Amino acid sequence: MRLIFEQSVPGKRAATVRIPEVEAYCVPQEAARDGLDLPEVAEVDLVRHYTALSKRAFGVDDGCYPLGSCTMKYNPKLHEEIAEYPGFTKLHPLQPVETAQGALEAMETLCGLLAEITGMDAVTLQPAAGAHGEYTALKMIRAYHMGRNDAKRNKIIVPDSAHGTNPASATMAGFEVVNVPSDAEKGVDLDALRAVVGEDTAALMLTNPTTLGLFEKNIAEIADIVHGAGGVLYYDGANLNAVMGVVRPGDMGFDVVHLNLHKTFSTPHGGGGPGSGPVGCKAFLADFLPSPAVAKQGEGYVFVTPERTIGKVTGWYGNFSVYLKALAYIITLGKEGIRSAAETAVLNANYLKSLIEDDYPTERGRYCMHEFVVSLEKLKAETGVTAMDVAKAMIDKGIHPPTMYFPLIVHEALMFEPTETESKETLDRVAAVLKEIYRTAYSDPAALHQAPMHAAIRRPDEVRAARSPVLTAKN
Ligand SMILES: *Cc1c(COP(=O)(O)O)cnc(C)c1O
Repeated sequence: MRLIFEQSVPGKRAATVRIPEVEAYCVPQEAARDGLDLPEVAEVDLVRHYTALSKRAFGVDDGCYPLGSCTMKYNPKLHEEIAEYPGFTKLHPLQPVETAQGALEAMETLCGLLAEITGMDAVTLQPAAGAHGEYTALKMIRAYHMGRNDAKRNKIIVPDSAHGTNPASATMAGFEVVNVPSDAEKGVDLDALRAVVGEDTAALMLTNPTTLGLFEKNIAEIADIVHGAGGVLYYDGANLNAVMGVVRPGDMGFDVVHLNLHKTFSTPHGGGGPGSGPVGCKAFLADFLPSPAVAKQGEGYVFVTPERTIGKVTGWYGNFSVYLKALAYIITLGKEGIRSAAETAVLNANYLKSLIEDDYPTERGRYCMHEFVVSLEKLKAETGVTAMDVAKAMIDKGIHPPTMYFPLIVHEALMFEPTETESKETLDRVAAVLKEIYRTAYSDPAALHQAPMHAAIRRPDEVRAARSPVLTAKN
């Protein structure tokens, strides 16, 4: 495919620039550019270029996207419509709050709904992603311990099944990471936890259900152990889609949570944003929340600064359009709908699991939550076909691959999360495709090493693509 720069012909234009209605303002000489190197193309070429590019990508609107841990559910278009209301899009972040009351009301309402869903007392919308929410909450946890003159709490405990962002955020926030292993049931090993908690424990970071798609049944006991040692219990809310409306992190004993609005609350994601990772907390941590926070005052809404705030963690007020989509999603579903979305997500995962588990072994005899992890160790030993080969073969069938080689404690792992928005017909088809690939692994393994045959990009060198990406059109 030709780059847009390669299609450039001097003098071609896709748009006419409007004569400004205001007086010209001269940029100071030292700030002015000599010129701007933009491709010169006609509107039709521009439209075709981006349309062609869009066809080389795969999104939820193209087909089933069972990427475990990412909750790639279908996002109703109604939310986009609401986020595009001119009353919202034409706001300026610097305009007086009296003239932006609707926007503040939307934010305050969303905070209230998220607090209710999670069982927390206060919520900030500022963080721009889940990992950013983790970092924000960890800063709050540090400020809380320091505020009690308890400076020795410098360790964050993380289970071995944790998402990579947990230890990364803890390290970035200046803590030391302590790993705790899983037990035979694949939950946190309680004896190992008891052995590592102590006077230096700042917090335990946990997701429930875990990244294996299993509910951590010992959560109440885990909460007691962590709280007994003076630590804070942190909820990685990336898996909330399995339990929202059914059980609340606050009631499980968690003190602080992050949510991924772009996962659970239906905002298109996968291309790198914009996302939103609100943080909710119990009252004892609320004074440390980022500033500004939105509050209701009389009949109106104002921005306030929490007493011992950790400060601002994002530009302006965060990714506002994502708040609107999440708000629209929660309001249109309502209390019953939220619960039913979670229940259907769990049902769909168990349905798909039951269809394929003869060929794709997983935790047998156990129900999963919203996702499940299979291990292809046996397939690899018998045929040489790897989890990577199976994932690549799925691309040829118009299905996005599941998450691969994660969590790290399962070998040759594939992690499926179909979400509640896939129909029974779609799940039947996904299972049929997987069974066909399994048979091919035994009859013609070489074919699977070649897959995908029909994708724009076939087998990139994944290490080089990640370590030394070429991010510019011209070198
Ligand atoms: C996605 C995810 C995160 C990180 O969230 P981002 O929004 O991608 O930064 C953290 N934990 C778990 C379990 C996740 O699945």
